[in-house]
Amino acid sequence: MALRFFNTLTHKKENFSPINKKEVRMYTCGPTVYDYAHIGNYRSYIFADTLKRVLLYEGYKVKHIMNLTDVDDKTIRNSQNEGKSLQEFTQFYAEKFFKDIKALNILNPTKFTKATDYIHEMVDIIKKLLKKGLAYKSEEASVYFNIRKFKNYGKLSGLILENQKENASGRIKSDEYGKDNAQDFALWKSWDKTDGDVFWKTTLGKGRPGWHIECSAMSMANLGEQIDLHTGGVDNIFPHHENEIAQSEGVTGKHFVKYWMHNEWLLVDKKKMAKSKNNFYVLKDIINRDINPIAYRFWLLMANYRTRVNFVWEALEGAETALKRLYNLYIGLGKDIGKINKEYQKKFKECIEDDLDTPKALTVLWDILKDENISNDDKKATVLDFDKVLGLGFEQTKKDIEKIRTEKIPKEIQELIEEREQARQNKDFTKSDELRKKINSLGYEVTDTPEGQKVSKI
Ligand code: AMP
Ligand code: ZN
Repeated sequence: MALRFFNTLTHKKENFSPINKKEVRMYTCGPTVYDYAHIGNYRSYIFADTLKRVLLYEGYKVKHIMNLTDVDDKTIRNSQNEGKSLQEFTQFYAEKFFKDIKALNILNPTKFTKATDYIHEMVDIIKKLLKKGLAYKSEEASVYFNIRKFKNYGKLSGLILENQKENASGRIKSDEYGKDNAQDFALWKSWDKTDGDVFWKTTLGKGRPGWHIECSAMSMANLGEQIDLHTGGVDNIFPHHENEIAQSEGVTGKHFVKYWMHNEWLLVDKKKMAKSKNNFYVLKDIINRDINPIAYRFWLLMANYRTRVNFVWEALEGAETALKRLYNLYIGLGKDIGKINKEYQKKFKECIEDDLDTPKALTVLWDILKDENISNDDKKATVLDFDKVLGLGFEQTKKDIEKIRTEKIPKEIQELIEEREQARQNKDFTKSDELRKKINSLGYEVTDTPEGQKVSKI
């Protein structure tokens, strides 16, 4: 079967064939580093990671860029509220993000790009758009994209400008707005006092970029004018990705992205998880409940990335129990690695090639582990092969568990661990957290693995 992806642009599954056969070029809209990312955000990075892993598994070389939005309305507002410089403020959250994606076993992109490193490239694109008559300067010296001058405006989101309200001919300065409020959007925002000390002095005047131009500039600078894949959550389709198309295709006259791919929402109580709704959890909430972050990855893989999933703790706990079973089955296979079972590999490939059907791919994993006609060595080789795509970390978990079994832990620490185990079983998270801190203060670190607590010297 050929590799097929659902393309948001054409609304159908299409065979994947990269522009340049030697290397796939992929761009992922990364986090706005204005706060801790929530687990809904991580759904979009786990999806992009799975997509990349599938491409690598299929033998492609992948150049993957993920940006960090370190200047926009939200980063400026929050850094000012905390009385910190934009750089110091965004660096803090960028580091938290790096730590989280490591815990979720998300592969690093080829490069992380920070928006503030690309101001020159953004100014360059904006000047070209002005020259082409696709953008104009407002009275207060900001620059706006004229959406009625770009004939394909709306092609990704299905927006039809003629159906818009009268005010669709107005303009909008803020970075985020809805589809029913489509207007000329800001490419360059001239400085005003609410920006404080955040500005760049450029040939466009003193100001800062709009959010949308950032991704066009970083994508083009690192991947060229035309790329294969661009990912993000469905809420990025409008206005962010629609505007990226307008800016990029407006300036180059070429088709910008061959396959647009978007993950659906993570919901809580049937509503989108969002900072603004105050209904979110961060990864630390999962860790504080002594749940392995990989269980969250595993839980997401049980659903297709294009379906909405409703987050409940019981479901995540259930996923962790299932993951523990998988790990135990794997550990029981012993030391030796045999040959990949071709039949199971074929089945597995058919699933992932069909627009990343991870729920079905997981059933293939369970099936081989339970199949009594396959030798343990061959099972092990095949599971490790599948894990290149699933990223559940079978081998690492096995090593972690073996380390716990061999390390000599002082009696005093051992007793605290046992006490903590009791607290965990009673779901007394306050006590288990206190005990963790006490163990830390005695020079040991405790992490929760599917096989129980792991203790090591700090
Ligand atoms: P932001 O940092 O707000 O730019 O969002 C980062 C990524 O998370 C984007 O790709 C969003 O589309 C995605 N995202 C935000 N909220 C959710 C959610 N509840 N479920 C899935 N993806 C989300
Ligand atoms: Zn973006």
